[in-house]
Amino acid sequence: MTANQFVCPNHDKILITQCLATCPHHIRCMAKPTLETVAKSVSDRKLGRKFSVTELISGTREQYLKKTIAYAINPQDHIFAMHGSAVHSICEHSTSSSVLTELRLANDLYTGQIDCYGDVLGNGKKILLDYKVTSSYKAMVALGYYKEDVPTGETYKTGLKKGQPKIKKVWRYDGVKKLYEWALQVNAYRLLLEEHNFKVDDMYIQLYVRDYSVRISSERNITQPMYLLHINKISDHWLKAYFSAKKEHLAAALNDKIAPAFCSHRESWHGRKCVNYCDVHEECKRLYAASLPVAEDAA
Ligand code: SF4
Ligand code: SF4
Repeated sequence: MTANQFVCPNHDKILITQCLATCPHHIRCMAKPTLETVAKSVSDRKLGRKFSVTELISGTREQYLKKTIAYAINPQDHIFAMHGSAVHSICEHSTSSSVLTELRLANDLYTGQIDCYGDVLGNGKKILLDYKVTSSYKAMVALGYYKEDVPTGETYKTGLKKGQPKIKKVWRYDGVKKLYEWALQVNAYRLLLEEHNFKVDDMYIQLYVRDYSVRISSERNITQPMYLLHINKISDHWLKAYFSAKKEHLAAALNDKIAPAFCSHRESWHGRKCVNYCDVHEECKRLYAASLPVAEDAA
């Protein structure tokens, strides 16, 4: 199934087809073309049992619900995702015949759309490049930036801390790069390219930081709108095992019509996605409540 309803600002739910035909409110909450783009972005691509890389990386329960029930989405929650689509369309035009953009490929495990491939960085290497629009916080942790307390060499002369060393915060750039899902996705695309006889010398993500101009961004040491992020190789054996297990799990759930267990901590971003970002959280909760045993005195 797919998202078939929009949630209006007053929390009413309305069929997307009905909203696009006529808004029952005195004025639309956003322009009709924007709503049409949101509706298109959440429609199921109906590839049968071929799942996309992003579908397999996300929670199996979430994907199961998205594919089996009709659900409602708030168009406001999908605007940042559209920034990503806009960046893709800006970048998809290349005058170079040696650069491929928006290339859709498939293998036995998944389908994927490669944003950009070729000698795009001018170093003579075949580069696989993926575009991401993200927040300054996510950029900071993906780049491995962190602050460390460093003694200044001075001590406090007065007050409660008298005699104690003075400390200053210093930016470090060698932290663990927290980009597991991105690295999985880009490596899955690398595998696709290599299986179709495209040599890949290196992988990068071109990060667009949507809030780079606000104060909080400079406090995170994010001072430019765009960063190039190198992605390390993940072993092919590990990738195939991971995607094969995720594919089998989702296909079996769909086949048996049995909802998988809750998404893992990693898939649900340690619960943050369930609370704020999951389109099917209502259905997920309802299904869980329905699966609970009925108390005897309530029966
Ligand atoms: S345009 Fe906005 S307010 Fe009007 S029906 Fe659609 S979602 Fe609701
Ligand atoms: S609410 Fe959480 S556990 Fe349920 S489908 Fe969404 S992400 Fe998964």
